[in-house]
Amino acid sequence: PVITRFAPSPTGYLHIGGARTALFNWLYARHTGGKMLLRIEDTDRQRSTEAATAAILDGLSWLGLLWDGEPVSQFERGDRHREVALELLEKGEAYYCYASQAELEAMREKARAEGRPPRYDGTWRDQAPSEAPQDVKPVIRIKAPREGDTVIHDKVQGEVRFPNKDLDDFIILRSDGSPTYMHAVVVDDHDMGVTHIIRGDDHLTNAARQALIYKAMGWDVPVMAHIPLIHGPDGAKLSKRHGALGVEAYRAMGYLPEALRNYLVRLGWSHGDDEIISTAQMIEWFEIEDVNKGAARFDFQKLEAVNGHHMRHTPDDELFEILMETLPHLTDGNIILAKLDERRKAQLRAALPGLKERAKTLVELVDGAGFLFAERPLSFDEKAGALLDDDARAMLAQLADELAALSSWSAADCEAAVRAFADRTGLKLGKVAQPLRASLTGRTTSPGIFDVLEVLGRDESLARIRDQAK
Ligand code: GLU
Repeated sequence: PVITRFAPSPTGYLHIGGARTALFNWLYARHTGGKMLLRIEDTDRQRSTEAATAAILDGLSWLGLLWDGEPVSQFERGDRHREVALELLEKGEAYYCYASQAELEAMREKARAEGRPPRYDGTWRDQAPSEAPQDVKPVIRIKAPREGDTVIHDKVQGEVRFPNKDLDDFIILRSDGSPTYMHAVVVDDHDMGVTHIIRGDDHLTNAARQALIYKAMGWDVPVMAHIPLIHGPDGAKLSKRHGALGVEAYRAMGYLPEALRNYLVRLGWSHGDDEIISTAQMIEWFEIEDVNKGAARFDFQKLEAVNGHHMRHTPDDELFEILMETLPHLTDGNIILAKLDERRKAQLRAALPGLKERAKTLVELVDGAGFLFAERPLSFDEKAGALLDDDARAMLAQLADELAALSSWSAADCEAAVRAFADRTGLKLGKVAQPLRASLTGRTTSPGIFDVLEVLGRDESLARIRDQAK
């Protein structure tokens, strides 16, 4: 069975690139009926935090990318990393290196002078430990082959060759007994039974070094797939302004998890020209081989369009539930939450069908619902204020009386009354509806004005109109 893994370092939030890596691992596991494991790469004790781990788990859960089994802590596996390093030593595939800091610095200096990349020169590779200096605690280095190539058969990058002379005898265990990242990853992936490594292509050169450890241990190298990083719309490295944010920022901006999955999967993978892809479809269609080699470009406008589509196509009850769950996380959502009594909650639910047609994010949706939460007397945006001139105010006074006479108050009842009023007074419908909208919402845009009347109800509607009438 296929076993993939997502292996974030808990040094910050789950950023959008990491989320896409997790998505690809998750999709491939679901596609093949396998599992996606989660490993927290917390060996860097200075930079790893509990809060970051919690944020990563939270971000993955919100995105619906649930891992199988318990998350594995890399740090807690230190004993096993040491054990394998010692095994490599015994097999003659690794050796103790006693080079001092000064000696290492001299090697780097020499390499610089000769214009080659700094490499450990292999001094201790063949020296007997009896010659070891007493005052230096050794590191353990892998005995890398010096001739030939290490070849990675990558599912995305194709066949990638690394001349072994470039892969020097890197350290697998530090002098304090802690494993290097390179070593820990291999031991963990092997022990966790990982069959497919899907990760960012910034790890491609690590793959060659890691392959050396697999070979030295006689282990099978997992299938590798190094996926291109996400770039900004201009092709440069993704910056904050261009979307290099944590997933919680996307939740705060009001994107739906399903829409974000849809958008992210298209960053580097495609299925024909399909823009809108359901999660069930991506699970069915996702193949690693179809991931593009070129860097994907992040485009906020496309994300908004995809999100707007998913909002419109989410059934109202479901969307309302998502909205209620998201409110505490939404930008300014807590302000709304504080005002959300049962009456307003019911109003918001009733207004949802109209609101979702006009919104590309939940933030926009809530913004569109602002009229529900407005306190009388309303404040007006500039355009709405300008609509309420003396003529309009006089018209509203008459209209209010007419609406007040209605025996039942639905959108259809209100519409009939407003149309009849416009006909009788010879005013164009817009000349009535626009000031009416301004008086009810304080704005010139809102859901359909008759829906607004229905949602606000008779008393609140008439009060708001009469506040502006003269
Ligand atoms: N912890 C690494 C990172 O966050 C990923 C390592 C891997 O996937 O092999 O970049």
